[in-house]
Amino acid sequence: MTQENFATGQVRYETPAPHVARIVMARPEAHNAQGLQMTYELNAAFDRAAQDEEIKVIILAGDGRNFSAGHDLSGDGGKTWRDFPVVGTWTDFDAKGAEGRYGREMEIYLEMCERWRNLPKPTIAEVQGKCIAGGLMLAWVCDLIMASEDATFKDPVIDFGMPGVEFFMHPWELGIRKGKEFLFTADELTAAEARACGMVNHVVPRDRLSAETLALAEKIAKKPLFALKTTKAAVNHVQDVQGRRNAQMHVFSLHQMMHTHNQLVWGMPMDPNGLPATVRDKVIARAARAREAEAKKSAAE
Ligand code: ZN
Repeated sequence: MTQENFATGQVRYETPAPHVARIVMARPEAHNAQGLQMTYELNAAFDRAAQDEEIKVIILAGDGRNFSAGHDLSGDGGKTWRDFPVVGTWTDFDAKGAEGRYGREMEIYLEMCERWRNLPKPTIAEVQGKCIAGGLMLAWVCDLIMASEDATFKDPVIDFGMPGVEFFMHPWELGIRKGKEFLFTADELTAAEARACGMVNHVVPRDRLSAETLALAEKIAKKPLFALKTTKAAVNHVQDVQGRRNAQMHVFSLHQMMHTHNQLVWGMPMDPNGLPATVRDKVIARAARAREAEAKKSAAE
């Protein structure tokens, strides 16, 4: 097996078996929380696997106890979008008003997820422990989901005054009624419940998760690559003609409207009352700095 870390080591690239790439979020101390750094490293890793003609199947995994705690709300250590290789064309992530956030979330959440979902080669998420909010987006972009018995899934953003995470797959993944309950209550879904809804393909013991995921990847990797690619494109297309993309774009507008509403009411894009205590102070302080910067910008104009 070969393995390689990208520049800052938040993502590791492995080739654990012939024709299989394994992309690993390697930030277990932060429960693989996803900031800009990890997002662009993941994108580079997916690109690399997509462009390597030897690779046929891609696994997405996370080091440590939990698959993903979701988006990193604590910031990017002073770095801005200008420090990263932006892929789309919305840009201007720090423009004032709703403009900057719209462009930023379009690029790093919505279109990045669409891009990864639409990778031609089959992908498998290997999920253990907690998979929260933005973490769901990472599992959902994959074609198949393997979960360990201890895996749990949760989207708590209604508590922050938001209607679900940006990549809005809840109704497709869970069905309409369960999807609504999942969003309304912000309750945790166990791996067994997620499997019963059809969201998870297989549930296996924690100590067998990587081996079982690799075995599934190797089984798929025996099939002809172009047939795999066209089969995946066919199934994705069926979901898209059912209205997935149209619904997604409408929901994205609602999502942005709620960020703007929260900004007007609370002075920040989320209702701070529902934020986890571990990040609340940081988020409030960052919002205050952002308001100050925007006021300065407006005064200078
Ligand atoms: Zn958002």
